[in-house]
Amino acid sequence: MRRSILPCALLLLASTAALAASTNLPAVPREQPALHALAEAPSQVELRMTISRLIGFGTRHTMSDTQSDRRGIGAARRWVKARFEAISKDCGGCIEVITPSQVFTGKRLPTPTEVMDVVAIKRGSTDPQRVIVMTGHLDSRATDVMDATSDAPGANDDASGVAALIEAARLLSKQDNSATLVFAALSGEEQGLYGGKVLADHAVAHGWRIEAELNNDIVGNSHGQNGVTGNTTVRVFSEGTKTNETPAQADYRRYHGGEVDSPSRNLARYIDRLADQYLPDFRVRMIYRTDRFGRGGDQVPFLQAGYPAVRVTEAHENYTRQHQDLRTEHGIRYGDDIDGIDFRYLARVTALNAITMASLSRAPAPPDGVSIQGALATDTSVNWNKVAGAVGYRVHWRDTTAPRWQYVRAVGDVDHAVLQDVVIDDWFFGVSSVSADGYESPVVFPGFAGSFERSPAASTP
Ligand SMILES: [Zn+2]
Repeated sequence: MRRSILPCALLLLASTAALAASTNLPAVPREQPALHALAEAPSQVELRMTISRLIGFGTRHTMSDTQSDRRGIGAARRWVKARFEAISKDCGGCIEVITPSQVFTGKRLPTPTEVMDVVAIKRGSTDPQRVIVMTGHLDSRATDVMDATSDAPGANDDASGVAALIEAARLLSKQDNSATLVFAALSGEEQGLYGGKVLADHAVAHGWRIEAELNNDIVGNSHGQNGVTGNTTVRVFSEGTKTNETPAQADYRRYHGGEVDSPSRNLARYIDRLADQYLPDFRVRMIYRTDRFGRGGDQVPFLQAGYPAVRVTEAHENYTRQHQDLRTEHGIRYGDDIDGIDFRYLARVTALNAITMASLSRAPAPPDGVSIQGALATDTSVNWNKVAGAVGYRVHWRDTTAPRWQYVRAVGDVDHAVLQDVVIDDWFFGVSSVSADGYESPVVFPGFAGSFERSPAASTP
């Protein structure tokens, strides 16, 4: 008997020692069962219900009727507000609904028009001023952008985005978030990106530190106009350099690097990696552009305000269904109706957003003050400021021509690291933070070019 007890005791001692040693290892990100669950959670029934209800308002043109309960942008806004309030009721009042607005006149708004957003806010438990935003636009249009009375169902452009954000709000309403989550149905997009400006202005006025803005516009169709189909890819557009960098900041960046490492770009890489990890039948196609060629979206006013933002859009567009009066011509059906929506696809896009918001909001803030040193040396030093909620950091590097981060080292709860025999000239570098429960922030490229801090153009490099 003794002989059998002794090896057991030794084994116990050995495993205790191993446990002690492992607790001293630097923190690394963990696989998150909660994110696997979110990947499968979006309901196609909910998404279809939202789009059907929004189409039912006939037109949601920004200059359409605001008084009627049955038709126009006013009725649509009130329906979205009521939907957010119902979701809030289900989670014990966890969501606050606000309706920020401004009056605009412009080329596509000839008379002063109130542009109102409907915004659901779920406050973060520990870092409420840090904000993760998801947007879509509620307004729709017919062939003539000034036509405020003809039917304009806007099923894909952009009831799909609004359906996705309402469903993401429903799913995340009953889950934890350290940072604040914001779900916003914007208006005035088709008339000149006004609703994006309303919310970006609101964010600046209230001191929000927006870490990410995920603009979902045209996310429900999987049949391209040219016959190409595909429901396993979504495009994520991100700017390479900051919209509002100063000439001095641009000069510094041109010489030292950062053309492909804005915070928006590293946000896109973050989304891409989450898709690889949690959505095995779905991939992100990163596009190195602010938006589609010559076109825009509501992420732009956020970029102008100095916040990181990306545009999420389907992979294969069908232009006979966008911005078209409902009609049939030469056997071709025009118009943006619900039969053009692939709900399985829309559910995947919704899952991607929900996973991204959950992961960002549970991770610590991205490190700030990231810098690198090492000219005329064979080692590279990386420095940063510690952030609240982080128990460890990881240093990343990649070939200067590589689209994604290639190498990583967990370095523990410190504010600097030395990468031995990694020559500063030959690589791009970045730093991420890791929480106690294994959520990781996006990677931050050094200096102004990569900082996630809000960047008014006046700030110094
Ligand atoms: Zn749109």
